[in-house]
Amino acid sequence: MSVSAARVAGIIEELAPRSLAEEWDNPGWQLGDPACRVNRVLVSLDPGPDTLEKAKELKAELLVTHHPLFFRPLKHLRLDLPEEALAAAFLKAGVAVYSAHTNLDVAPGGTSDVLARRLGLDKVEVLAPREAEKLYKIVTFVPPEHVDAVHQALAAAGAGWIGNYSHCSFQVEGTGTFLPAAGTHPYIGRPGVLERVREIRLETIVPAPRLGEAISRMLKAHPYEEVAYDVYPLAREGRALGLGRVGELKEALPLVRFAQLVKEALGLPAVWYAGEEERPVRKVAVCGGSGASLIGRARAVGADVLVTGDVKYHDAQAAGLSGLAVIDAGHAGTENPMVTALAEYITEKLAGEEVEVTAYVAPPDRRYV
Ligand SMILES: [Zn+2]
Repeated sequence: MSVSAARVAGIIEELAPRSLAEEWDNPGWQLGDPACRVNRVLVSLDPGPDTLEKAKELKAELLVTHHPLFFRPLKHLRLDLPEEALAAAFLKAGVAVYSAHTNLDVAPGGTSDVLARRLGLDKVEVLAPREAEKLYKIVTFVPPEHVDAVHQALAAAGAGWIGNYSHCSFQVEGTGTFLPAAGTHPYIGRPGVLERVREIRLETIVPAPRLGEAISRMLKAHPYEEVAYDVYPLAREGRALGLGRVGELKEALPLVRFAQLVKEALGLPAVWYAGEEERPVRKVAVCGGSGASLIGRARAVGADVLVTGDVKYHDAQAAGLSGLAVIDAGHAGTENPMVTALAEYITEKLAGEEVEVTAYVAPPDRRYV
């Protein structure tokens, strides 16, 4: 069964809400019809000509990329300008394009988390916290025989997480009252008669980006025609959100050995590193893509090394002065693990829909001789 492209976009935004993106960024729909039906999804880093060819070969109706197709507002769609001709070629081929960029970098489970996991880091935290996740408490009142179904529905929408514990809720029994007006179809009782019923007050916690989905799933699972529920904003904050991650290796390694480990873990022909080769590294900062701007932050949290891409000569010099080693594994090299992880995530979320999701990891952007 096909699904709408908008549904795939919704699944991605559950992981990486667009509200997390940097201000200058342009994530979300790039082109095509969000209502179009999709049997095959291609996930890649860039919306390049090779990706378009791959999408055509696979007959994918939707391409999900990390880097957006458009960063500047278009004033025309000229076929004599390469970038605009490429956009037109996607339209002509009937391939819709959707992107999750800096929102996926910031999101828990996003680009740098995938990179940290790939490098085997433990005790992973956000390197540059920008904000904390806003939390809500959601409370509803459910007949006892339906409380498990409503609780499960809320949990399936991402409510009820406290640290690494899922399904957190509190349930207490009480008496609910209601008087159904004429023309209603009450689950319990009759129109015009005041009812007193046993109900469970079910309360749980939900991060802001999951609130809409949690309410909608809760309403679907709830047996009442008119569901009573409350939503409270909480002063308590949730997880830190921001760019980059920092974590620890299980044991300290000489820089050169760790650089080799990075090369192998990311499947790269080479990585470039700056720092004393025998110096032990244990605390590792990572940022998929271009993370040289986080050099100061990496040093401030006591990292021994920063793994990222696009490091310039003077960035590495500045890092060296402050005692931080740097490993440049390339922009694509540090972001490609996320392409595969995102394809796996979409596949899992679309289980049972018979939609084929393929990850396309482009050939290396840097060749070495
Ligand atoms: Zn990037």
